[in-house]
Amino acid sequence: MQINFSGLRALVTGAGKGFGRDTVKALHDSGAQVVAVSRTNEDLVSLSKECPGIEPVCVDLGDWEATERALGNIGPIDLLVNNAGVLLEQPFLEVSKEAFDRTINVNLRSVIQVSQMVAKGMIARGVPGSIVNVSSMVSRAAVINLTSYSSTKGAMDMLTKIMALELGPHKIRVNTVNPTLVLTHMGRKFATNVEFANALKERIPLKKFAENHRI
Ligand code: NDP
Repeated sequence: MQINFSGLRALVTGAGKGFGRDTVKALHDSGAQVVAVSRTNEDLVSLSKECPGIEPVCVDLGDWEATERALGNIGPIDLLVNNAGVLLEQPFLEVSKEAFDRTINVNLRSVIQVSQMVAKGMIARGVPGSIVNVSSMVSRAAVINLTSYSSTKGAMDMLTKIMALELGPHKIRVNTVNPTLVLTHMGRKFATNVEFANALKERIPLKKFAENHRI
């Protein structure tokens, strides 16, 4: 299917690797002007070579003030993909303050912050827009050692519904996608939990995980 996003400006978080990197490429191929936000500058340098004309922004989205400085004057955005995420595995009894705070700040708080900036811009310009939040199947399915990660994804699903309710009247659509395991940088690390990976694979009709070729 040919999608044409010419004339639209998109912002993708977590653009350096995995889903985010592929999303930037797909949006760029579809004619959108893309702002690519990620944490590791080398990833953004190589992505800029592959997708000439994108606007790289290097920032740690877990840092509220740095994000405000980096994206506070980002200008008009029509499409937002809140994709950046971290997965820090810990058994429930060992969940640390540091890991929990980090996960909440990156996976959830930054979604609120970046979406506020983008949505306020859309409303001020009086234009429609679309926001996609990248959640996970583990927002609903319980998996051991994922207290922090799954809690943020469960909260993200509800956050999305509230954003959709409040932003809908401004013609801003808000949706989540809830993927299963995909062999990105994050997915490969998690798939080293062989017992879990095999059990999950059994439930997939093709008995294999989706691959991400642009890690
Ligand atoms: P990857 O780890 O492969 O890529 C994540 C990207 O986000 C990296 O470029 C990373 O940069 C960036 N990022 C992470 N933290 C920050 C931060 N604080 N500030 C800015 N950028 C950041 O993950 P995936 O592509 O697999 O995952 C993308 C999204 O999809 C996540 O939200 C994840 O929870 C979700 N998801 C993934 C699944 C999977 O199986 N892969 C399944 C379901 C959902 P850096 O490497 O420099 O930290």
